[in-house]
Amino acid sequence: MKYQIEPIGIIHSPYKEKFGIPRQPGLIKEARAQLVLSPPYNRPEAVVGLEGYSHIWIQFVFHQAIRSEWQPMVRPPRLGGNKRVGVFASRSPFRPNPIGLSVVKLEGVRCENGEVILDLSGIDLLDGTPVIDIKPYVVYVDSIPDACSGFAPVAPAVKYTVDFSERARKQLLARQDSAQLEAFITHLLETDPRPAYSGEPDPGRVYGILLYDFDLRWEIVADRIIVCELAEVESD
Ligand code: SAH
Repeated sequence: MKYQIEPIGIIHSPYKEKFGIPRQPGLIKEARAQLVLSPPYNRPEAVVGLEGYSHIWIQFVFHQAIRSEWQPMVRPPRLGGNKRVGVFASRSPFRPNPIGLSVVKLEGVRCENGEVILDLSGIDLLDGTPVIDIKPYVVYVDSIPDACSGFAPVAPAVKYTVDFSERARKQLLARQDSAQLEAFITHLLETDPRPAYSGEPDPGRVYGILLYDFDLRWEIVADRIIVCELAEVESD
């Protein structure tokens, strides 16, 4: 049996590409986004009562991970990218139905100029992600403090200290909300956003992550990550 599902909104996120996005929500509190409801679901009545909740569940489509074939086993980054587990034992984007589930902080609900906007933080979602449902996070049901979580018992460890080059710091300070942005970039890089199978870093290699309207360029030098610059994005 097939069901027709239509997105009810779209995510506007600072993460402009998949590379670098944390692998779960809540890890980077500074990652802010807006969920803008799409017509005909952009009715203020549809969110009445939601403002009383601090967190919500978001169900979404992994729209940039759609494949025509599915595999019963995947290699989760948590296991170093070389050990396989069942797709249903993983949170991989590559699944029979490309549906994701994230619990995120609800910073506010706004109904302005005919738009219904949910302000979110702690997101792990790509810009443009189609959202198919929203549900309130209910503590007495959804929080299970003595639960056991298989091969992912704790959050990923911090691996590097993050420093900014003089050039990067100047660019950072020229931006609005630079303290928030500095904390965001630091938390994003300190756990090593490179794919799990990357191994030891290449000395001298400059990595890039598209964030907001810039290309965050950084390198790894021993136990430090140095942000080289917040470069302008080259258009093709
Ligand atoms: N919390 C979700 C997502 C886990 S996978 C869940 O458990 O279902 C997280 C990864 O999904 C991120 O690292 C990011 O690279 C990827 N991702 C986020 N939004 C995506 C999208 N719209 N399409 C494809 N991949 C996406």
